Amino acid sequence: MHIMRVSVIGGGYVGLVTGACFASRNAEVTIIDCDPKKVAAINRKEPPIYEEGLLEILNDCVGVTLSASHSYDSIPDADLIYICVGTPEGADGSADLSYIRQAVTDAGRRMQESRKYQVLVVKSTVPPGTVQNIVKPAVLAASGKREEEIGFGMNPEFLREGRAVHDFLNPDRIVLGADGDDAYSRMASLYESFDVMKIRTSPAAAEMIKYTANAFLATKISFSNEIGNICKQLGLDVYEVMSAVGHDSRIGPLFLNAGAGFGGSCFPKDVMALVHLATAAGVDPIILKAVLAVNENQPGRMIRLLQERCGDLAGKRIAVLGLAFKDNTDDIRESRAIPAIQLLKDAGAYVTAYDPMAATAMSEVFPDIEYCRTAAAALSHADGALIMTEWPEFCTLSEEFSLMRRQIIIDGRHMVTGPGVEGVCW
Ligand code: NAD
Repeated sequence: MHIMRVSVIGGGYVGLVTGACFASRNAEVTIIDCDPKKVAAINRKEPPIYEEGLLEILNDCVGVTLSASHSYDSIPDADLIYICVGTPEGADGSADLSYIRQAVTDAGRRMQESRKYQVLVVKSTVPPGTVQNIVKPAVLAASGKREEEIGFGMNPEFLREGRAVHDFLNPDRIVLGADGDDAYSRMASLYESFDVMKIRTSPAAAEMIKYTANAFLATKISFSNEIGNICKQLGLDVYEVMSAVGHDSRIGPLFLNAGAGFGGSCFPKDVMALVHLATAAGVDPIILKAVLAVNENQPGRMIRLLQERCGDLAGKRIAVLGLAFKDNTDDIRESRAIPAIQLLKDAGAYVTAYDPMAATAMSEVFPDIEYCRTAAAALSHADGALIMTEWPEFCTLSEEFSLMRRQIIIDGRHMVTGPGVEGVCW
C-alpha cells in the first residue's frame, strides 16, 4: 500500500484528530497550526485538548508517522492537503471564511514548488459552493498551476467532541465530494482501511450534507425541548414520552433528550449559517429559525424556574454544576452554562461553579465567579443549583445536596432525582 503524505492545516479538534487518526492508519502526517503552543504540545505528545484515545495515538505516532509544525514546509511534498481551520460565525451570522481564505492561499503559494499532482481537501464546515467558487480559484491563483495539476475535494467531518477519536475511526459513512475522478480516487485511497460506506458526491453536495446533518440533529433537540416544555405544563414526563416515540424506527432514539438546549462549536453556528445562506438565496428558513429560538429560550426557562422557587436572586448563592457544552470535553464554546451564568449575574446572584474539566476555559469568560474543586464545594451553603452539563458523576450526587442552605435544584440534563429537584422540561 502506498504511504500517503498528508499535510493537515489547522490542529484544533478536527485537524488534530484527523491528523492523528490518519497517522495511526496508513499515512505520514504533518499537522500545521499557527499556534506555536499547540505545535509544541503535539510534538511533546501532549494533546492540547482532551479526547479519549488521543494521548495513546500521539504516544505511538509522534516522531514516527506524525509531527506538528507552524510552517507550511511539508506542503510541496504532500499528496493530500487537508484544510481543518475554523469557520466561526461572522458578525452577520454567515460563516466567516477568512481563516479558510488565508490557509488555502498560503498552501497554494507552497504548492507552486511541487512537481506532482496534489489534492486539496476541505474538511472544515463551509457553505455550499465554497470549494468550487472560493477555494479552487484562490489555490490556482496562488500556485500559478493549471486546473489538471491540482484536484479539489470536500470531506465533511461528523465526529462528536468527547468521542472524536472513536467517531473518526468508526464513522457511519464517509462523504467524499470530489471535483473529478483523480481527486476522488486519491481521497478514497486515504480511507482505504476504513471498512464503511463511501458516498461520492460533488463538493457542493458534500458541503450541504454537513450543514443538513447538523441542522437536522439540532432540530431533533429543539423539537424535543418544545415537546418537553409542553409536557411539563401538562404534568407529563417528556422522557417517558420520547422514549416510546424514539422506538419508532422512522424516528430513532438519539437526540431526543429534552433539556437546557444545544451548544458547542458546531450546531449553533452551523444552523445560523444555514439560516443566513437560505435567506440570501431567497428562502425563508422557518423551521431553522424556530430551532434557534427554542434553543435560546431554554437557559432563561431554567432561571425563571429557579426564581419561582428561590425568589429574588440578588445576593443568593447559586451553584452551577457543569460548564462544558457537553460531558467528556473541556470545550465551552456556546455552552448553555454561559447564558445561564450571565442571567444569574445580571440578577445579582453570587455564582459558584464546578466542572470536572472546563473550569479553566470558563474562567476566561467569567473571571469573577467562584470556581470550586468539587460539586460538594460548589453546593455548600447554596440557595439554589443548576445542572447544565450531562457529566455522569452528577448522577451520583445525593448527600451533597444536603450541604445546600435550601435544596432547590433545577436540572437541565435529566441527571438527578430527589427532594427539591425540578427539571427544566419535566
Ligand atoms: P478549532 O478552532 O478547534 O481549530 C482550528 C485550528 O486552526 C486552530 O488551532 C487554529 O490555530 C488553526 N488555524 C487557523 N488558521 C490557520 C492557518 N491559516 N494556518 C494554520 N493553522 C490555522 O476548530 P475545530 O473545532 O477543529 O473546527 C474546525 C472546522 O471543523 C470548523 O469548520 C468546524 O465547523 C468543523 N467541525 C468541527 C467539529 C467539532 O466537533 N469541533 C465537528 C465537525 C466539523
